[in-house]
Order: sequence, then structure tokens, then C-alpha cells
Amino acid sequence: MSKIIAIANQKGGVGKTTTSVNLGASMATLGKRVLLVDIDPQGNTTSGVGVNKADVENCIYDILINEVNPQETIQETRIEGLHIIPATIQLAGAEIELVSTISRELKLKKALNAVKANYDYIIIDCPPSLGILTINSLTAADSVIIPIQCEYYALEGLSQLLNTVRLVQKNLNPHLKIEGVLLTMLDARTNLGIQVIEEVKKYFQEKVYRTIIPRNVRLSEAPSHGQSIITYDSRSKGAEVYLELAKEVISYE
Ligand code: ADP
Ligand code: MG
Repeated sequence: MSKIIAIANQKGGVGKTTTSVNLGASMATLGKRVLLVDIDPQGNTTSGVGVNKADVENCIYDILINEVNPQETIQETRIEGLHIIPATIQLAGAEIELVSTISRELKLKKALNAVKANYDYIIIDCPPSLGILTINSLTAADSVIIPIQCEYYALEGLSQLLNTVRLVQKNLNPHLKIEGVLLTMLDARTNLGIQVIEEVKKYFQEKVYRTIIPRNVRLSEAPSHGQSIITYDSRSKGAEVYLELAKEVISYE
């Protein structure tokens, strides 16, 4: 059985892309077959696993708009078992172009149905908005992981995200679940982090992952080398925690 997980939060810079790349890479390292789907026009997941965007012939845009066979867009990465459907800046136009198409919310779901059987996990890296690309992702997904940065106003904007999840459940995808809430970028030297953890746990209770992602310089360096933390520095704290998270997510199968 394969599981499709969207990584979503309309706030930028909370760790969606870092989590998509490194959770995906960790799951593949643990022997799972994983497909990353980059649906953010910034294409940071794409470059983050070493795919050169200039060389991409067909990307997620062509799946959504030109009905290109998803199989023709899938690329391998340097980690065995980790594949990606890339995104390029071309995707920025999709939001507007989709407006006039029939069943525009279902495009990604239909495309992923065609490749789903080849993977244990499909991880969708959402853009920082609640527009049609995120709606497509939540409609295609079995569940959503919400990364929350350990900072002031951590919970701000979450009611909008949860409202969107409810709307999708009601109208497009009744079986969408919240897979888990992930605390990211914890600075262990401050009390603030501890306060945020308590606040988020009070709100989401058992949905909060035991694994908390600390700030780790190696995690922020890896993307500029086109690598996940697993190949960039397998002995770093960042690699350790994302492997731990992968085990936790896999255990909730
Ligand atoms: P999003 O996809 O939600 O916009 P990113 O994953 O791109 O967020 O993270 C935002 C920035 O923070 C990036 O520069 C990334 O490298 C950095 N970052 C993310 N997680 C960590 C972490 N745990 N430790 C240090 N830097 C991080
Ligand atoms: Mg991102």
C-alpha cells in the first residue's frame, strides 16, 4: 500500500522543503520506494536533490497543464529508491492557467494514481500559499504533515490552514487526515523553543511528532550542494533526526 503525504503550511520558511527532501531521502535509505513531488514554483526540492532545473524537459507543470504522462517527468536521484517529479519556474503560470480548466482540483490526484503503485511513499512539497497548487496536493494526499517553526507566533495562520484542510475534506477528499505536526528549527539554547513546544502540544496533542528538528547548520548547507543531508553529512545531527522522523512516520503505517 502506498501513502501520499503532503507537506503543507502557507507560511514560507518553516521547513517544508527541508522536510520533504530529508524525510524522503531518509525513507529511501530505510529501504522504502519514495517519490518526491515538487509543486512549488521555486523548485527548491528539485535543486535540493541535485536536479538541474535548466535541464528539465517536462516538469509538474506539464502534468497539470499539458496532460503529459507523469512517468515521463520522473527523474532518479543519487539516492537509490528516491525519485522526483521536478518543478521549474514555469509552474508559476499554472495557478492562473488552471482557473479555466475542468476539475482543476483533481489534476494531481489523477496523475499520481497512475504511478502510485510503484512507490511506498509519495511526498508532495507544497508552495507557501493556500492556492490551487496546495488544494491539488491536499486533494491527492492521504494525509498532511504540518511543519511548524519553533518561533514567536508559531500558531499564527494555522487556523487558515486547518480551515482549508476541512474544506478539502468536505468537498474534494473526505479521507484526508492530519498525519502529524512537526516542530522545526528548535534552538535548544532559548526558553522560547520550550514554550512553543508546549503551546503546539496543547493545541495538537498526540498529533505532534516525538522527533523535533533542531537548528542544524549542515541542514541549511546541504541544498546548495544539491544534496539531502543523508549524502551531504550522514553523521550530522540533521541526518540523525530526519532518520528518526522517517522511522516515526513509517511506524504509523
Ligand atoms: P519552506 O519550504 O517552508 O519555505 P525551507 O525548508 O526552505 O522552508 O527552510 C527555510 C530556510 O531555513 C532554508 O534556508 C533552510 O535551509 C533553512 N532550514 C530549514 N530547516 C532548518 C534546520 N533544521 N536547521 C537549519 N536551517 C534550516
Ligand atoms: Mg519550500
